[in-house]
Amino acid sequence: MMTISDRLQAVRARVAAAAVAAGRAPEEVTLLAVSKTWPAAAVREAAAAGQQAFGENYVQEGVDKIDALRELGLEWHFIGPLQSNKTRQVASAFDWVHSIDRLKIAERLSAQRDVHLPPLNVCIQVNVSGEDSKSGVAPDEVAALAHAVADLPRLRLRGLMCIPEPTGDLALLRARFAVLRTLQAELIAAGLALDTLSMGMSHDIEPAIAEGATIVRVGTAIFGERTRPEESH
Ligand SMILES: *Cc1c(COP(=O)(O)O)cnc(C)c1O
Repeated sequence: MMTISDRLQAVRARVAAAAVAAGRAPEEVTLLAVSKTWPAAAVREAAAAGQQAFGENYVQEGVDKIDALRELGLEWHFIGPLQSNKTRQVASAFDWVHSIDRLKIAERLSAQRDVHLPPLNVCIQVNVSGEDSKSGVAPDEVAALAHAVADLPRLRLRGLMCIPEPTGDLALLRARFAVLRTLQAELIAAGLALDTLSMGMSHDIEPAIAEGATIVRVGTAIFGERTRPEESH
């Protein structure tokens, strides 16, 4: 029976091997442990094994864990769809939001971020697969949104995030991740100081790192298969 600590070690080894294979330093890639649907005790176990950054998809569930684990000093990333009636909770509890896809949400987060906290780190979620059903902005709308978000006083725009369609086609995945990398390079050339590409999950860590991921968001490979069905938003 593999423990969370065992699986975490295996994922760290995958990340390091993928980085080295891509000619990159393993330290360039941050492992975000996606703890959605798992109890605070599972987060505690991962934290005891040295994991520092955790990702949550559902606002109330995330805020409850943040409150329960406050003494551990962990870093919390909101990575799920965000509705405007939940921005206040996210702005006060989380350190990062990866899923910005509308200016209105970014404006609310900026206005609601506590003045005593550092700016909220944010990424813009891009729909790299062109699917109607997926959240994220279209690639040709990223630049306008990025410049508007970068001007908001209580946010710090760090980069871009994507969730490609599930596929075992490695070449297709690399092409999707390359779209994000190229967009990021264009934004940097246009003067934005970005340092984050949030891409890659349990099944596609390697192609994401090959295309420049700086944060991989990994749930299943660390905590196991989720039994609670994903809620739809
Ligand atoms: C659930 C989720 C992940 C983690 O997915 P796994 O396949 O379990 O690694 C990463 N990113 C987002 C946005 C998610 O919702």
